[in-house]
Amino acid sequence: MGISHQGIAASDGLFIGPVRRLGSAQQERQGTGDAASEREALELAIARAITSLAALMERVEGEAQDILGFQVAMLEDDALAAPALSAIDQGTAAHVAWAAALDGEIAGYEASDDDYFRARAADLRDIRDRVLRQLAGEHAAGTVTGAVLVGDDIAPTAFLETDWSAGGAIALLQGSTTSHVAMLARARGIPMVTGLGELPSNITILAVDGGRGAVLSDPDAAQRAQFDAALDSDARARASEEQFRFRPAARRNGERIDLLINVAGVEELDRIDHAACDGIGLMRSEFLFRDGAPLPDEETQYRAYRRFAEWAQGRPVTIRTLDIGGDKPVRGLTPEGESNPFLGLRGVRLTLAHESVFRTQLRALARAAEHGNLKVMLPMVTVPDEITRSAALLDACIAELKAEGMACHRPPLGIMVEVPAVAVMPELFRAAAFFSIGSNDLTQYVTASSRDDARVAALNDPSHPAVTALIARVALFGREAGIPVSLCGDMASEPRHLAALLETGLTSLSVAPARIARLKAAIAEL
Ligand code: PEP
Ligand code: MG
Repeated sequence: MGISHQGIAASDGLFIGPVRRLGSAQQERQGTGDAASEREALELAIARAITSLAALMERVEGEAQDILGFQVAMLEDDALAAPALSAIDQGTAAHVAWAAALDGEIAGYEASDDDYFRARAADLRDIRDRVLRQLAGEHAAGTVTGAVLVGDDIAPTAFLETDWSAGGAIALLQGSTTSHVAMLARARGIPMVTGLGELPSNITILAVDGGRGAVLSDPDAAQRAQFDAALDSDARARASEEQFRFRPAARRNGERIDLLINVAGVEELDRIDHAACDGIGLMRSEFLFRDGAPLPDEETQYRAYRRFAEWAQGRPVTIRTLDIGGDKPVRGLTPEGESNPFLGLRGVRLTLAHESVFRTQLRALARAAEHGNLKVMLPMVTVPDEITRSAALLDACIAELKAEGMACHRPPLGIMVEVPAVAVMPELFRAAAFFSIGSNDLTQYVTASSRDDARVAALNDPSHPAVTALIARVALFGREAGIPVSLCGDMASEPRHLAALLETGLTSLSVAPARIARLKAAIAEL
């Protein structure tokens, strides 16, 4: 009989499939028991890792190239593999010897007083895992389909690199329901459970109930039949909501609610029919910037933003400028070793500190604004001066583009309301063309409970009266001042929060695309 494990619900849905451990290339390999072949396997894996890094280096520039160059130099240094090779000669399997040797190095770097060396520990972890993947036959998370990914936590990039076309689910021992991965999972409709604490290491099949936050390991025939019945009835409920998909979102009294969607990448557009929503309320542009990959240039960004604008066919498309930092680091841009990244150099603070990166993005946005109803939104605004400085940069970019003879348009510049300083005194931010409430960050900052820490998940509750009161305050100010207000945090994607949200006077919500039909059905009941 399978055992049920209770965690925290992070993304609805049911899925059953084989377990795929994250970050455990090491566990997927068996040693051969022969020192000579283990030595050869490690040397070959290192050589392959160098070749793959060298190929990657050809496609990147600037700092990304330096990072990869450092990794290649480390791998080419015989001293790095020496302790592993001598452990292999003593009878240790190649993957165990390599992991132990690198873990020792990493611990040394992490203990350094020097920021530079501490920062290099991340490169060493990358090198360790790259070689381990080669030893295991190059299985990255991204190559698996139709599995339940199990691990302590999962990085947003690992989620994006995974092929979800055959379904799948995520079961995390730690993690959090408000992390960016949870948000991506909800957008994609991938069932996810966090905060499971522990799972036996030998399980092979996992049945995931994302809505209840529970998983069942290695179900027996009776449990399997029960799960299959639940899958059936879930499918029936989803089918009955479908009748609402292409209707305008409206309450029972006929009051219309604007229902827009949150997206992270152009590839998502292929799966969404634009006629089912009122536009894009939040495009998280930072997901075009992958950690370890080169920064996308103006042309690449322009093409992506233009794609969103054209997809929406005249409906509004709000593109948020880079919100990196916090739990979305990009090497070379985010500072290493911040003691509290969510309170550090994040969002507009970071882009204002990296003016050339910001300018590239603003130029691309102004050019894309020629092709649709595009709006630009600043994340993590805390003081009005951040709007003034960003607007000045946008104007400068537009003047520059015009001087170059490039077609462009000045998009309206709005802000996220996600820092309590703004929600408490929205009247200081009249310079914003619109407000979009980020309930994910607002909740984490109001309740002083991290959005990615399972241990404080119960405190990180958007229905806390203090959060709702701030939302109501912003909605009221917006109505009085004639500034449009929407809410794009994940709270809006939860039918259980709908009544309270609409009670605040909000009439515009931006939600996970996978929730459109369900939310329209729930709004019709209100
Ligand atoms: C939010 O904070 O609510 C939000 C929508 O932004 P993100 O989740 O990307 O931080
Ligand atoms: Mg936010």
